[in-house]
Amino acid sequence: MDHVQTLVIGAGVIGLAIARHLALRGHEVLIAEAEGAIGQHTSSRNSGVIHAGIYYPPGSDQQRLCLAGKAMLYDYCATRHVGHARCGKLTVAPNAERVPELHQLQARGAANGLDDLYVIGADELREREPAVAGAGAMVSPSSGIVDAPGLMLSLLGEAEGAGAMLALATRFVAAAPHPAGFAVRFGDGAEVSCTNLINAAALGAWDVARGIEGLALGSIPPCNLAKGSYFSISGKSPFSALIYPMPLVGSLGVHSVQDLGGGVRFGPDMEWIDKVEYSVDTGKQAMFEAAIREYWPDLPAGALHPDGAGIRPRIWGPGMAKREFEFQGADIHGLPGLVQLFGFESPGLTACLAIARHVGEMLAT
Ligand SMILES: Cc1cc2nc3c(=O)[nH]c(=O)nc-3n(C[C@H](O)[C@H](O)[C@H](O)COP(=O)(O)OP(=O)(O)OC[C@H]3O[C@@H](n4cnc5c(N)ncnc54)[C@H](O)[C@@H]3O)c2cc1C
Repeated sequence: MDHVQTLVIGAGVIGLAIARHLALRGHEVLIAEAEGAIGQHTSSRNSGVIHAGIYYPPGSDQQRLCLAGKAMLYDYCATRHVGHARCGKLTVAPNAERVPELHQLQARGAANGLDDLYVIGADELREREPAVAGAGAMVSPSSGIVDAPGLMLSLLGEAEGAGAMLALATRFVAAAPHPAGFAVRFGDGAEVSCTNLINAAALGAWDVARGIEGLALGSIPPCNLAKGSYFSISGKSPFSALIYPMPLVGSLGVHSVQDLGGGVRFGPDMEWIDKVEYSVDTGKQAMFEAAIREYWPDLPAGALHPDGAGIRPRIWGPGMAKREFEFQGADIHGLPGLVQLFGFESPGLTACLAIARHVGEMLAT
């Protein structure tokens, strides 16, 4: 059986960032990806927003990694020529009664270390975004967008440049204890041993965990899937910044998401589902139109068309308290060399480089 020092399961943006980070630090890395190409799931089915880090609980991993990851990502994209734009984000209050909430959001952001947020009134909002209706908005200048597929290609290129290997169409099936760490079996019957095993399979992380012999099943958190659908319009975006409604519980609401080519999508909504399935229910169109007209009243009737969906892997579900994503090392599951990542929903794209650094620190201790 061949041996590799570190096996990363999953070639999404987080698995690739981890592989790159560890390869650059001298690890011998193999990335095993079930699909025939990288980034076919969550990492290419999201809003592509570089989040500022306004809403996460102060002091949480999400907050810390979002702030650090945002700075690292802007720097990475600029130095590697990965497409991105620091276009800013406006969170819009639909009426005067809700303007005080903008100031509460600003205070919440300030508690999270964001000192660049500010609130503007209706006149300035109209001046900056003539298509947007609202009584005011909170401006987040450090929010932006990134070309997620371009980012993943760049991370893979750097990982491979540092010696990492990518095995596509290679599904992790099981792992058993081995003198060197773990003996891993893949779907095609191939086997490899590894010292470190990183479970970055996102929606597949629970199946991977259940396939690891010796893992206390009680350490595996609940698995919940929260689907988010998108609709888009043809032509150019009527906005220059990202436009968000006031946030909802468990979702940031149906916001506008521009792409680097100047087009725009709207979404995602939030729907609990039972299995991974990406079709968009066209019956949602009327709900999307109503939500978008809250801030863009001139959305032409019938202009929306379905434009893909993504699924948030969550360790909390309906009726449960909201939980942030979870890193699990040997202190939690008892298996040295195993790092598991569960529930890496937003801001996983923004934070991928900081998440990779954190995993590196976990392996070093
Ligand atoms: C609707 C939506 C909107 C979002 N918007 C944003 C945003 O604007 N900004 C932001 O920062 N974050 C956003 N996120 C979160 C972000 O997209 C994710 O945190 C991030 O993409 C997760 O990356 P990943 O590598 O963990 O997952 P994935 O990209 O899903 O990668 C996991 C990989 O593991 C592979 N895999 C699964 N099982 C196995 C197996 N058994 N063997 C081998 N390989 C396997 C899969 O094929 C997949 O390629 C959003 C998420 C969603 C769903």
